[in-house]
Amino acid sequence: MRFYSLNKQSPDVDFKEATIRGQAPDKGLYFPEAIPVIEPSFFNNIEQYSNEEIAFRIIEPYVAGTMPGSELRRIVAETINFPVPLVPVQEDIYSLELFHGPTLAFKDVGARFMSRCLGYFARERKDKVVVLVATSGDTGGAVAHGFYDVPGVEVVILYPSGKVSSVQEKQLTTLGKNIHALEVQGSFDDCQQLVKEAFTDQSLTSKIFLTSANSINVARWLPQQFYYAFAWKQWQHKDKPPVVCVPSGNFGNICAGLLAHRSGLPVKHFIAACNANDVVTQYLEDGQYQPKKAVPTLSNAMDVGNPSNFVRVLELFHQEFGALKNVLSSYSITDEETKATIRSVYQKYHYLTDPHGAVGFLALQRYLAQHPGEKGMFLETAHPVKFYDVVEPVIGEAVPLPQVVQAMMVLNKESKVIPAQYEALRSYLHSRY
Ligand SMILES: *Cc1c(COP(=O)(O)O)cnc(C)c1O
Repeated sequence: MRFYSLNKQSPDVDFKEATIRGQAPDKGLYFPEAIPVIEPSFFNNIEQYSNEEIAFRIIEPYVAGTMPGSELRRIVAETINFPVPLVPVQEDIYSLELFHGPTLAFKDVGARFMSRCLGYFARERKDKVVVLVATSGDTGGAVAHGFYDVPGVEVVILYPSGKVSSVQEKQLTTLGKNIHALEVQGSFDDCQQLVKEAFTDQSLTSKIFLTSANSINVARWLPQQFYYAFAWKQWQHKDKPPVVCVPSGNFGNICAGLLAHRSGLPVKHFIAACNANDVVTQYLEDGQYQPKKAVPTLSNAMDVGNPSNFVRVLELFHQEFGALKNVLSSYSITDEETKATIRSVYQKYHYLTDPHGAVGFLALQRYLAQHPGEKGMFLETAHPVKFYDVVEPVIGEAVPLPQVVQAMMVLNKESKVIPAQYEALRSYLHSRY
């Protein structure tokens, strides 16, 4: 499979090149030249396949030719070595729990897959690969854990100071070894901007082999298709495909779902659940795509004012607004509504959502209210304990910390504070690598 740059000014590459580069030289995102078609009998009989087999089947066409099938099978198996249960919450709403991985959020899947692919591809290189990543919260932890101790790979994480939860911060700043955290005095958008500037700085990239681990990297983006298929495997109403609601920030996750659907996965409709950062919600209403400055919310992993993966969504639909609207709806949920949803879902159904999942639950409920007879699922993208600062006051109860988190909370934070100026990042990287 070849991948082309969405800016159309760079040569096509294979999966290995796309994984190592992250972004194309013309700053475009890579996109597969063809969408693989998986035959309907596969999805009709999905219960008879193991999760490994399902994941391998989905990813193999993209990766084929860049590593032996046996390596890919190993990487797939290591990526998904935790459960992804589909849990009923109320009669017509299910929760797809994506938080059973090591950092308790869905980004573990993409990060584990990508780190192992990059580790495999880096084996033949002499110089170190430096993974540079901006995080609004969960990416950093997942990437840090995914790459921890991978030989030949150094990880530098930029996160907005004071704008990630205390658990998230610990996940970013306590590993040590090849994992380094930069605490940026600015927003997530500032962090993303700094990373983008580094990638286009020739004086830097000529000396240091830089790559990204954000959701723009195909090796993080593509494996996110897996759990949409695992959800279908568990779906009890095969005659009535689900409405799938995805709490969205950078739109990598939902774009992977849309891609799986294009390959044949049965889905009735997609919903992008957004917080106050509603650029896509607005776009679907009036056709005007107007990036904004991100505003901080309780669901901070979705505080994105200009979602980088949305260009991929548009490409999937050949820029046809009407075709996109047939498949995708969006709702914007306020912080007040988020809190009220966490509280009411907990009281009514004894199910505790995190702030992102709560945004997803309410967006799905709104859609179902307008489409009676449908059933759906929301993606519960993080464990509520990651946001105990938000959740506990809302339900008036303590959320017990899982053992792994308890052990982490007592470790010392190690980070370097830098201003939101490119020069600060540049001199940090030059001095170290
Ligand atoms: C990253 C993240 C999201 C948003 O996912 P995108 O792929 O950026 O749209 C939602 N919820 C949580 C908990 C996240 O960490």
